[in-house]
Amino acid sequence: MAPEKPTEPKGLLQTHDLYKYILETNVYPREPEPLKELRSLTAPHPWAVMGTAPDAGQMIGLLLKIAGAKKALEIGVFTGYSLLLTALTIPNDGKIVAIDVNRESYEIGRPVIKKAKVEHKIDFIESEALPALDKMLENPENEGSFDFAFVDADKINYINYHERIMKLLKVNGIMVYDNTLWFGSVAQPESSVLDEFKKGRVSTIEFNKSLAADPRIETSMVPLGDGLTICRRLY
Ligand code: SAM
Ligand code: CA
Repeated sequence: MAPEKPTEPKGLLQTHDLYKYILETNVYPREPEPLKELRSLTAPHPWAVMGTAPDAGQMIGLLLKIAGAKKALEIGVFTGYSLLLTALTIPNDGKIVAIDVNRESYEIGRPVIKKAKVEHKIDFIESEALPALDKMLENPENEGSFDFAFVDADKINYINYHERIMKLLKVNGIMVYDNTLWFGSVAQPESSVLDEFKKGRVSTIEFNKSLAADPRIETSMVPLGDGLTICRRLY
């Protein structure tokens, strides 16, 4: 069964009670059963905190629906919360290309994906994401063919992923970048940031600046989870 007990706030909301309110009022009651199961299965993992927060997941599901997404790309799968969410949301003949350098964590969640009968929509690529994206771009059929992309992997490469995604996505396609507020560190002086967050902070600040200056997209930074930046390809 799902861990319905409120977890520590994963995101930037400072009040535990407020986060609990959001989860209990609007997120848990509507979270599909397979996602609850995947969350439970992932909970004992030492890196369970990497899983997409269910409130951020709910927003991603909503965006997929609004975009009418049929073909999606995901970079950074871990045990598959956002992947399963996407697979459950897109139509039965939809496709998700999901890239992760680590197949082991994907295998943890795979039985739940199978049980939910959505595995046929998933094309999992075990690889570093950059070469995998470049390989996809060698096939002209992939250009401008994706409706949606979710990026939740190594922050240092977000800028590089963005350039590739801009080619893979249709005009009007939606990209969502996760962790763009990097535990709030983007707005803190470097001296007050824990060493483990310093590298990610620099990459994220650079990435956020480049998105804000990118005329090819429109964007919105949403303080959900650890910060989601939602973008639409304009041309
Ligand atoms: N979206 C996932 C979820 O909902 O559970 C969480 C993804 S987790 C935060 C980040 C993932 O990115 C890890 O599984 C890691 O193996 C993968 N990753 C990190 N660097 C990568 C790279 N250069 N190429 C491909 N995958 C990478
Ligand atoms: Ca994340």
